[in-house]
Amino acid sequence: MASTLVMKFGGTSVGSTSAIRQVIKIAFSARRQWDNVAVVVSAMSGVTDALLEGVTASIRDVTCADRAVAALREKHFNTLDELAPGAKDVRAKIGGYLDEYLVLCHAIHVLGVASPRILDAVSSLGELMSAQLVATALTEEGIFSVAVDTRTVVVTDEVYQSATALMDETTERCKTIISPVFARGLIPVLTGFIGATRQGITTTLGRGGSDISGAIFGVTLDADEIWIWTDVNGVMTADPRLVKAAHTIPTLTFREISELAFYGAKVLHPKAIRPVLERGKKLWVKNTFAPAEPGTLIVPDNGKPTDGTIRAVTAFKGQCIITVEGRGMLGVPGIAARTFGAVARTNTSVSMISQASSEQSICFVVSCSSRETVLCMMRDEFRFELACKDIDRISASSENAIITVVGAGMRHTPGIAGKIFSALGKAGVNVIAIAQGSSECSISLVVDSVETTKAVVAIHQLIT
Ligand code: ADP
Ligand code: ASP
Ligand code: MG
Repeated sequence: MASTLVMKFGGTSVGSTSAIRQVIKIAFSARRQWDNVAVVVSAMSGVTDALLEGVTASIRDVTCADRAVAALREKHFNTLDELAPGAKDVRAKIGGYLDEYLVLCHAIHVLGVASPRILDAVSSLGELMSAQLVATALTEEGIFSVAVDTRTVVVTDEVYQSATALMDETTERCKTIISPVFARGLIPVLTGFIGATRQGITTTLGRGGSDISGAIFGVTLDADEIWIWTDVNGVMTADPRLVKAAHTIPTLTFREISELAFYGAKVLHPKAIRPVLERGKKLWVKNTFAPAEPGTLIVPDNGKPTDGTIRAVTAFKGQCIITVEGRGMLGVPGIAARTFGAVARTNTSVSMISQASSEQSICFVVSCSSRETVLCMMRDEFRFELACKDIDRISASSENAIITVVGAGMRHTPGIAGKIFSALGKAGVNVIAIAQGSSECSISLVVDSVETTKAVVAIHQLIT
């Protein structure tokens, strides 16, 4: 059977001429070792943000769209001129996407609002442009490739800005659209992050969603391995932007990486893990700018007891604690169910639930952006209890960060929690709340957001 490799390149990996030259080198060597190679690309770094900022600013002042287009045109055309100077057709295609952007900005200006559906149409343009650039650059170097607009391939539900792929239909489309590209000996350069509903309306998988696309194609193309190429040497013991001493972790289990990704290690999107894990595929995270470095291999959990050492620490910023408190709650059944029912109605996900020391308070953590919506819904849910003072207060904290310490078997290892808290104590970090991780392999705690780096650095010193 033919061997298949899916490689996803992130924004920085396709963010400049020199970065795309690295992609070419990597694709060249993969081409020699694998029968089929598929490349999945993000937008050039900064482009998705620029598209969204330009469109939002155009609501009030439509000339912002012209400025955004000028900057995006310069970025893409300069890169194209350096990589494939004669590619007039590609220049025209990228120009066409930018014209589309202007039309969308004008429409939004007239409407006065930007719906999630229009925002998806806008933010999809970054990947559509980068796929054109990368496919042309590869072909120019003799690695014959074709850009594929994956809105024709990835069929999703209708949840704009956070769509989920319908895997069976997407697999069928892969067979009819991508398999023939392989059969012709070409590399398909697939747009990450985007898809379309059954009716053909553009959707996106959520910010950072190209990793999910990598996983989707790994599964639907039945790849042997999926390589996520990024700008650091794999998954590290902490975000290297926060901790200078962070180092690469050679292997991590799916459970460990799931905790890390869920609690803010941006290097891999949390939704990219499950589809790959369920099919038992090999998943690597590697550095585009240091391809000879081994990177990180994600391995299945083998069920063997682990030593319980700390493997990594992450920070999830922009969180706040919501607290429901009152002596009248003591022993009253159903308060917790009603609390989380109310939160669920706002469509907010709870990032952590803290164990209260008594039944007199419940606290949980949500993103700061949901603070007001959640508070309103909760105060409405408990309006009678508030009126008769069974509940004294429903309040929200200022900005916090969740610090999560990850390592399989850690929670059963005596002394680990003690070490973590004494390290934080020595560093003078005040721990506001503690929670059991969502699996056996993590401990999460909440600190004031200004203490994030101090907390991460202090815990990182415990990693050998
Ligand atoms: P890409 O555009 O390639 O998807 P991202 O910016 O989304 O890249 O993710 C890579 C970044 O994730 C790194 O530059 C790093 O700063 C950050 N990061 C956070 N936590 C970790 C970690 N534990 N290991 C490696 N990188 C991390
Ligand atoms: N370009 C998208 C974003 O910036 C998707 C990605 O990079 O993974 O969120
Ligand atoms: Mg990313």
